[in-house]
Amino acid sequence: MKIAVLPGDGIGTEIVAQAMKVLDVLKKDGMKIETEEAAIGGAGYDTAGDPLPESTLALAKASDAVLLGAVGGPRYDKLDRPLRPERGLLRIRKELNLFANLRPALLYPELASASTLKPEVVAGLDIMIVRELTGDVYFGQPRGIEVRVDENGKGERVGFNTMVYSESEVRRVAHVGFGIAMKRGKKLCSVEKANVLECSELWRDVVAEVAKDYPEVELSTMYVDNAAMQLVRNPKQFDVIVTGNIFGDILSDEASMLSGSIGMLPSASLDENNKGMYEPIHGSAPDIAGKNLANPLATILSVSMMFKYTFGDQATADRIDNAVKKVIAKGYRTGDIWTEGCEKVSCGQMGDAVVAAM
Ligand code: NAD
Repeated sequence: MKIAVLPGDGIGTEIVAQAMKVLDVLKKDGMKIETEEAAIGGAGYDTAGDPLPESTLALAKASDAVLLGAVGGPRYDKLDRPLRPERGLLRIRKELNLFANLRPALLYPELASASTLKPEVVAGLDIMIVRELTGDVYFGQPRGIEVRVDENGKGERVGFNTMVYSESEVRRVAHVGFGIAMKRGKKLCSVEKANVLECSELWRDVVAEVAKDYPEVELSTMYVDNAAMQLVRNPKQFDVIVTGNIFGDILSDEASMLSGSIGMLPSASLDENNKGMYEPIHGSAPDIAGKNLANPLATILSVSMMFKYTFGDQATADRIDNAVKKVIAKGYRTGDIWTEGCEKVSCGQMGDAVVAAM
């Protein structure tokens, strides 16, 4: 198992260091894991003048999986767009053809008070959102801003993008959604806007075709506006949601906030062969960087997802997940999830606690 480790910027180095402790435990237990570190984002710009240095991309391509911390920071905000850290991230996703983005929204019962919703609505929440990541209105052509002149000769600027999905693009992400539903509660909700958009009409047709391969999975469809409402009204009705790039972008952020802390949520982005990039959903948190305050659990849980989805090793994934559950149950909390009566720990101490619980 070759893992490219890209800590990135800000708290990225601190949280990835904790995930490495988890990998070290597994290595000591005899697993054949090889890790190699490289620079990305601002760190890539600093060392090679490029947010995705050639050598980093080559390493990522040669590895089975990529573990990423976070990129970005105020120091880089004034750079030309192509040199900004976030460009490195977008490019590596595209270069590795990571078309399926998996974002769990999971809430440990002990952390239910961290959510802005009533504890009884969210306690025990466990949803998986599968978002298509390389198509849709974000990449569709034509796109642009141009001056258009009306019949009276009056011109004004018009901005336009194209929502487009091919059958094959929908089919491959639908298979990912059904495959994950098979391993979970066997319920899949396909979210689109087929009452208004032809692109969504095709999406709905193709998902229904793919469903024939998964007779055990109960398929439902929902319009995106209703899904946005249902996610806050009764989120526990969902098991797996599969949706396009723009709808998934919005719904997955909404779902992540149901669980209160951004420091708890991992993500995976997969290609056709289950090669993946694994990263916490949060950014580089410049406000707490370098202070040993960050919550490393989202990154550690990203390692768990790596074992589940890329290495097909459910037992190791469970071992990591259970260790995280144990430290939460014991009352260890970094500042972002701390409440009265719990023990406040640093980023490093949280990593050590997970290792001890393993
Ligand atoms: P952010 O996620 O970095 O931080 C938002 C808030 O959440 C901050 O108060 C931060 O302290 C807190 N937070 C985030 N992760 C935490 C953790 N693990 N533990 C405790 N608290 C945590 O978002 P932002 O402030 O909007 O962006 C900061 C930088 O990160 C920007 O440069 C942005 O472009 C970049 N960014 C990168 C990614 C990524 O690498 N995938 C994602 C989002 C933002």
